[in-house]
Amino acid sequence: MAEKSIVLTRLKDFKAEEIAKAIGITKTSAKRWKKGKIIHYRYHSRLDEFLKLDEGTTENYTKEILTEQGRIKVCKGCGKTYIARFQRTKACGSICRQKIKPVFEYKLKIKPQLHKEFIDDLPKDETRDLIRSETIKFLNKGSKIEKLKPEIEYFSFDEMTWEKL
Ligand SMILES: [Zn+2]
Repeated sequence: MAEKSIVLTRLKDFKAEEIAKAIGITKTSAKRWKKGKIIHYRYHSRLDEFLKLDEGTTENYTKEILTEQGRIKVCKGCGKTYIARFQRTKACGSICRQKIKPVFEYKLKIKPQLHKEFIDDLPKDETRDLIRSETIKFLNKGSKIEKLKPEIEYFSFDEMTWEKL
């Protein structure tokens, strides 16, 4: 906490133009620093020197801000510590992001309940099994039943669960 206030207090002692000129950054960046925004590591030692602070003060100050923002993280893919651009990030890069993508490990299991009147007209189990297997196959492919034709209901999904593969 001490470093945070030191860096910020010293930054406020100077005009944005002065900081910009001394460090070699834009006036906009200098203004952002004065507001307590992140300072890129490439400027840490130059800023320590300019503000007459001990070496490493700006670095610690920046780490404090990142920690407060919850952006110093351990990658869920490779286990390395990294600085996240956003708080919600879970992986250090695109390769690790792919690695931790959730695997779809459930398939749809349906027990269709056939209405009695309809079953009586069917050539027994053969058709029933065909309907069942075709429906499950269709849904497991990722297809969706968008609209059923307005006609007499043959069966309803009274039980629909996800079965672990
Ligand atoms: Zn990683």
